[in-house]
Amino acid sequence: MIIKNLFKKTKNSSSPVSSEDWESISPFAVEIINKLQDHNYQAYLVGGCVRDLLANIKPKDFDIATNAEPKEIRKIFKASRIIGKRFQLVHIYKGKQIIEVATFRAGLNKNSTTIENDLIKDDAGKIIRDNIWGDIEDDCNRRDFTINAIYFCPISNTFKDFHDGAKHVKEKKIISIGDPLYRFEEDPVRSLRAIRFATKLNFKIDSKIKEAIYEKGDLLGNISNARLFDEFCKIFLNGHGYENYKKLQSFGIAKYLLNLEKNYSGNKVYGESLKNTDKRYRDGKSITPGFLLAAILWPKLIERCSFDNGINVRKFFRSMDSIIAEQQRITAIPRKFTSYIKDIWYLQLKLNDRLKNNPNKIIKHPRFRAGYDFLLIREKASRDKSNLGKWWTSFQHADARSKEKMIGKVRKTVEIDGNFNPRKGEGKEFGFSEELR
Ligand code: ATP
Ligand code: MG
Repeated sequence: MIIKNLFKKTKNSSSPVSSEDWESISPFAVEIINKLQDHNYQAYLVGGCVRDLLANIKPKDFDIATNAEPKEIRKIFKASRIIGKRFQLVHIYKGKQIIEVATFRAGLNKNSTTIENDLIKDDAGKIIRDNIWGDIEDDCNRRDFTINAIYFCPISNTFKDFHDGAKHVKEKKIISIGDPLYRFEEDPVRSLRAIRFATKLNFKIDSKIKEAIYEKGDLLGNISNARLFDEFCKIFLNGHGYENYKKLQSFGIAKYLLNLEKNYSGNKVYGESLKNTDKRYRDGKSITPGFLLAAILWPKLIERCSFDNGINVRKFFRSMDSIIAEQQRITAIPRKFTSYIKDIWYLQLKLNDRLKNNPNKIIKHPRFRAGYDFLLIREKASRDKSNLGKWWTSFQHADARSKEKMIGKVRKTVEIDGNFNPRKGEGKEFGFSEELR
């Protein structure tokens, strides 16, 4: 089905897409489509960008689908590279921009034996290679949800929508193309995608998809840790992390992305960290998977080393690597984040140490800010009244004399309370009571 002029360039049209959104279409993507069409290939914008334009959301990237094969695309665009094995794609570069171009894919043709090498499934029905080329209709049937399977040509201003995707965008529904039980077997990550789109767009997940998530969610255990790290970032660092976390929990599949503490549902540190990350996203501040991982793995670290109303410091340091390794088995963690995570954890101990010249040293630590931010989150999550976070807030803004006074005051309190425990190793008093349940 070809629909003309659904996107109108004029300001006063009744088009569902505003002229502002029209202008947000990447000129580089249009240039690529133009060039492919000049070489007599079909080429369209497809996927999230078309869906988002129809939903009046500014697209975050632009994907292109074409009947040109990867090698043919490579010939046309000098600055391009074929990537992926399981799912081959071409990246086309211009300055800092990268556009992903995918060749139309076909499903498994039951009568054919020649293509078996290109679409391979494992014993659980999961597709492990998906490189059989087809036409646009075949391609459309291979996509996950109807709202993601709308093809738009920005040059002729036409679009192809074989599964009523535009209607479902309007109705705010996420509907699977084909039986979701089968489609989630082919690729279990589709269940995470359904959840992510539902929160991002505020759409309803169709009941058949819900059932499939319950039924097939466990298959996420077979997905590579590298792919799950990508999904971890997409689901938790997109401004809707907290909502996604709650949905993942309600479907019982949070454990396929996170190394959670045993009684995690009662621990507020997860929710507070995600809410904090969402707020930073909204405020346009930097967000890193390292910080979120440090926060999410923290309860597990405390669980492992808590000892007699405090922590066993030796165990605290020794457990760091094993807790990160456990998470790495779920989602890979790029090496650059592991030392960041450990620094944030180490700083939680150091921030407790406010005697002598320690505060002046700690404040110069390159990760002080992240460590302090996490302290505030822990404090909020555990409703702690000791005001350690507040103390550090004041300390950062105080002049040298006031800083000295603040440290002096801490020393006196410690002496009066007698709760300073110089023992190293076992049973160091540390942490907020709710963390040490
Ligand atoms: P986002 O806004 O996150 O970019 P998106 O829908 O564009 O959302 P991409 O991962 O960029 O998601 O994928 C582009 C398109 O490719 C999707 O819209 C969908 O049509 C198709 N697609 C991606 N991943 C899958 C999958 N696992 N199974 C089926 N189709 C997929
Ligand atoms: Mg996309």
